[in-house]
Amino acid sequence: MIKDKVILITGASSGIGAATAVELASKGAKVVLGARREDKLRQIAEDIRAAGGQAEFTALDVTNPNENDAFVSLAKEKFGRVDAIFLNAGLMPSSPVSALKTAEWKQMVDVNITGVLNGVAAVMPTFLAQKSGQILATSSVAGLKAYPGGAVYGGTKWFLKDFMGVLRMESAMEGTNIRTATIYPAAINTELLDTITDERSAEGMKSLYATYGISADRIARVVAFAVDMPEDTTVNEFTVGPASQP
Ligand code: NDP
Repeated sequence: MIKDKVILITGASSGIGAATAVELASKGAKVVLGARREDKLRQIAEDIRAAGGQAEFTALDVTNPNENDAFVSLAKEKFGRVDAIFLNAGLMPSSPVSALKTAEWKQMVDVNITGVLNGVAAVMPTFLAQKSGQILATSSVAGLKAYPGGAVYGGTKWFLKDFMGVLRMESAMEGTNIRTATIYPAAINTELLDTITDERSAEGMKSLYATYGISADRIARVVAFAVDMPEDTTVNEFTVGPASQP
C-alpha cells in the first residue's frame, strides 16, 4: 500500500524525483522533497497540495550529512515516521577520461556516492528503531554497461548495485526488515544532460536522448510499484527505458 506512507525523495526538484513525488502523492503518500533549488521544490509541493495531496520540502545538499539528518527529522516532525526514502539525487557530467575533468569526477563521487551514503546514514537509525523501512535508489543502465564518456558516472552507478545488494542481504540476515529497490533507467528526458561540459559528450548524449528519450513519469510508476509491494516482498532491481533504445 502507498496510501499514508511517509516517503522522502532526494533530487525532487526536477526530472525523475519530481515526477515520483507527484505520482506517489497522487496515490496518497505523504511526500517530503529535498534538493538544492528550494523555489522548484516549493512549486512542486504547492502543485501537489492543490491536487489534494500532502507534501513538505526543504533545501537539501545531499553531500552535507547534517542536512540529510535535518531532512529525516523534518519528515518525522511533520508526519511522525518514515516509511521509505528514494535516494535519487545525481548528476552526469560525462566526458572521456583523457579530458581530465577532475573537479567533475569529484562532484559525481560526492553526489552520486557520498550523497547516497549520507541519506542511508541519516535514515537507518529510524528504520532500525521502527524495524521496518524501504530504501530505493536511482542507479542507471550506465552502471551495468561500460560506454565511452561514462567512466566515472558509470562507476558511481555501479557502486549502487553492489551497495544496495549487500544492504538487502544484511537486512535479511539481521532481520531488520529494511527492504531495498534499485532502479536502472536508460534514456529519460530530464535536466540530466545540462551538467555535461564536454562538447562531444554533450552532442552524443543530446542526439541519443532526442532519438530515444521517454518521460520521467515512467520511472515514477516503477518506484510506486516497488513502494506498493507488501512488507514481506522486496523487488530488488528494475531496468527501465525506452522500448526503442537498443
Ligand atoms: P535531473 O537533472 O532532472 O535531476 C537531478 C536531481 O538531482 C535534481 O533534482 C537536482 O536538484 C538533484 N541534485 C543534484 N545535485 C544535488 C545535491 N548536491 N544535493 C541534492 N540534490 C541534488 O535529472 P534526472 O531526474 O534524470 O536524475 C535523477 C537521477 O536519475 C540521477 O541520479 C541520475 O543519475 C539518474 N538517471 C537518470 C537517467 C536519465 O536518462 N535521465 C538515466 C539513468 C539514471 P538541485 O539541482 O535542485 O539540487
